[in-house]
Amino acid sequence: MVVERKPITLPEYITVAELASRLEISANDIIKTLMKQGLMVSVNQTLTFDRASQIASAFGFDAASAPAEEPFVEEPDDPSTLVARPPVITVLGHVDHGKTSLLDAIRKTNVTAGEAGGITQRIGAYQVDHNSRRITFLDTPGHEAFTAMRARGAQVTDVAVLVVAADDGVKPQTIEALNHARAAKVPIVVAINKVDKPGANIDKVKQQLADLQLLSEEWGGQTVMVPVSAKQNQGIDELLDMILLVADLQELKANPHKHGIGTIIEAKLDKGLGPVATVLVQNGTLMLGDAVVVGNVVGKVRALINDHGERVRKAPPSTPVEIIGLETVPQAGDLLHVVDDEKLSRQIVTDRLIKDRETRMQAVSRTSLDDLFRQMKEGEVKDLNIIIKADGQGSVEALKHSLTRLSNAEVRVNVIHGGVGTITESDIMLATTSNSMIIGFNVRPDPTIKRLADQESIDIRLYRVIYHVIDEIKAAMTGMLEPEFEETMLGRADVRQIFKVTGVGIIAGCMVTDGKIIRESDVRVLRDGVVVYEGKIDSVRRFKDDVKEVAAGYECGIGVSKFPGIQQGDVIEAYQLKEIARKEIAPEQPATR
Ligand code: GDP
Repeated sequence: MVVERKPITLPEYITVAELASRLEISANDIIKTLMKQGLMVSVNQTLTFDRASQIASAFGFDAASAPAEEPFVEEPDDPSTLVARPPVITVLGHVDHGKTSLLDAIRKTNVTAGEAGGITQRIGAYQVDHNSRRITFLDTPGHEAFTAMRARGAQVTDVAVLVVAADDGVKPQTIEALNHARAAKVPIVVAINKVDKPGANIDKVKQQLADLQLLSEEWGGQTVMVPVSAKQNQGIDELLDMILLVADLQELKANPHKHGIGTIIEAKLDKGLGPVATVLVQNGTLMLGDAVVVGNVVGKVRALINDHGERVRKAPPSTPVEIIGLETVPQAGDLLHVVDDEKLSRQIVTDRLIKDRETRMQAVSRTSLDDLFRQMKEGEVKDLNIIIKADGQGSVEALKHSLTRLSNAEVRVNVIHGGVGTITESDIMLATTSNSMIIGFNVRPDPTIKRLADQESIDIRLYRVIYHVIDEIKAAMTGMLEPEFEETMLGRADVRQIFKVTGVGIIAGCMVTDGKIIRESDVRVLRDGVVVYEGKIDSVRRFKDDVKEVAAGYECGIGVSKFPGIQQGDVIEAYQLKEIARKEIAPEQPATR
């Protein structure tokens, strides 16, 4: 008797539980089958397609593998379906320069009489009407949120408004914001704010921006700069005019007639409503009742709430709406897709979770100095992107200048960003989105930042002498990197108090917070992540005893007479240098598991 085998399509990876449900058998049957082959698995274990198809076959199925592509390949829209959509604006700039005030002032231009009490609810983005046109503003100002979203692959901003206070001028975060916007290739409109203040100097701001290659239109450049006062509501209309003008150059269009696609702007867990997320619809129209997949979260849109707190039935392109009905809280930057049925959405999420784990396990290939030459030879890199963080503006400028000059016919060296201070999360995010390496000059990242960089495979190089930086980059570009000294961080201690002890010298009363402090090791003293001293310590003491080392969680006295400038709040970092052989450049090492 020939038994008809049932056809079934299986994904590249599938859990035992999911396979059982697809084959309509119990998970136990699968576990037992595998046990007979000497394999112990659990219900939640993931099986490869090969293994799963073997099992399927044992139960009378003929398995074919499902195409492994991303389920949401966006077909290009037929031009006849496209209609203009509102531009989406992000406000960036230095702290206290008036980003929030400006967003409030813009929002107020649109409060209708009925809403005299102001906006009922804040949902992470809002829309205003200006000259019978609509503009969408993201309500989370600052480049951190902007770049964090980009790091997750989301590009939602069409125009960045860079706010610079006219009385304070260009500040470090102004430059940072500018570089983040540039790295994202988003057009910039400058709002010169606080022009009502006595110390306001608009021309000075323009001059400072010109020094950063952002030249205002009046001065023959390309950048629109509008003087405003968020506090006195001056210049807001002009700013909105200009935003529309700059946005129009991009001819922003979308197709409202298809399933909605959007990006999560923010999300939270509401005690009463469950997961609540603000999504910015970017294409198509999101409808009440739609089944959706958001990152690794599934859901069904049970309610759509607009920026006025009103329930709506649909959200066309560029509209921010709050959605209720997701099973768990997604992350900002996650993409939202509408799917045809809920069952499919669950399958997509399982596939994605597995794929995510896979990608996490494979190291991402990013530009690192060790690998630069090989990548150059294979034509993989044409640009060496660098982010510089240093202890002073002078060093930033010097490094920027000398590094840019290293560009040659094969590689162009681009300094994507340079700033004063230690390496921060926002630098790592910028490095991931712009495929840059980070050079720290007399600054040290703290351990959490170091871990984040490792996770993201970002190459951080730390230096103390400018010509070492130049030499090493030059050497990397010619495949001649010297053996490297690898530094192991041994421990860190927070300086809690300073004592002067006669006959002994200066003692820093410390709490060891990480690893251990060893008497003989090299140390450096950090103040806000910037190296202020490097050398040795005299002694480590617990109570009255000299000890060799002190572990995390313990207090100790560290003798630092060689660095009398030590202060409460400094961090002492102990480390060890070890010479390591560089990786061979030519043969690729086989991947090991
Ligand atoms: P943010 O940190 O960039 O969001 O800045 P805020 O919007 O919180 O503003 C910082 C401070 O500057 C607040 O005290 C505001 O009242 C003030 N401020 C903002 N815009 C103006 C302005 O146009 N004129 C004046 N005089 N003060 C302003």
